[in-house]
Amino acid sequence: MKEWEKWLDEIDLSLHDKQKEQFQRYYETLITWNEKMNLTGITDEKEVYEKHFYDSLLAACCYPFKNVRSLVDIGGGAGFPGVPLKICFPHMQLTVIDATKKRIQFLEHLVDHLSLENVNLLHMRAEDAARDERYRDSYDVAIARAVAKMPILAELCLPFVRKNGVWIALKGKAINEEAEMATPAIRALNGGEMDEHYFELPTEASDRHIYVVAKQNDTSCAYPRKPATIKKQPLG
Ligand code: SAM
Repeated sequence: MKEWEKWLDEIDLSLHDKQKEQFQRYYETLITWNEKMNLTGITDEKEVYEKHFYDSLLAACCYPFKNVRSLVDIGGGAGFPGVPLKICFPHMQLTVIDATKKRIQFLEHLVDHLSLENVNLLHMRAEDAARDERYRDSYDVAIARAVAKMPILAELCLPFVRKNGVWIALKGKAINEEAEMATPAIRALNGGEMDEHYFELPTEASDRHIYVVAKQNDTSCAYPRKPATIKKQPLG
């Protein structure tokens, strides 16, 4: 994909040949598996590079991923944004958590096919994984795209973040009201102020907003609550 390197250059990212090849293999694997299971509605090569790969890497404009040792992607689906970030920053330990078994099976194949190391794939609900001491209050960064609205997403993501780490939420258009509604949840989960970053995709120019919240202290034993409770009564 020709424009790809120019787009990355504009956000101060560059890739070695091995990483370029990993992205191309990712695209091909996604398209092949998408014929037998529903992984993405976007299949045109340029659109996958722009709306999945580039979109995922915009997180690196909001936080210094070269200093991140551990990343957890909550509801990673076909691997976005966790896998593009792992390809770009291979030193990181990546965990992807998803409640859908088929998507985890796709990721198992992908990780093997791309020879990615230090990747942990968990077929679990985030609410259950966050109660496990191995994952709770442990990660430098918890990230999510297209999983839930902010008040719910806060409770799915912040419990994984270590003190002084961050939660990063990738969103499309501005979600001022939704973001504001998450304030009580963020406070209850020991998150600090929310920083907002705005971008446009390089060719089709649609909006992207990324929200970053630092964790100020370990998670109270009250959280996360049970999935049905989180859904019925988002913190607020
Ligand atoms: N993040 C990917 C992306 O941006 O393309 C996938 C988005 S897809 C719309 C939402 C994914 O979140 C699904 O794969 C679903 O199984 C997963 N998911 C939703 N709620 C979850 C939860 N509580 N725990 C784990 N996975 C969850």
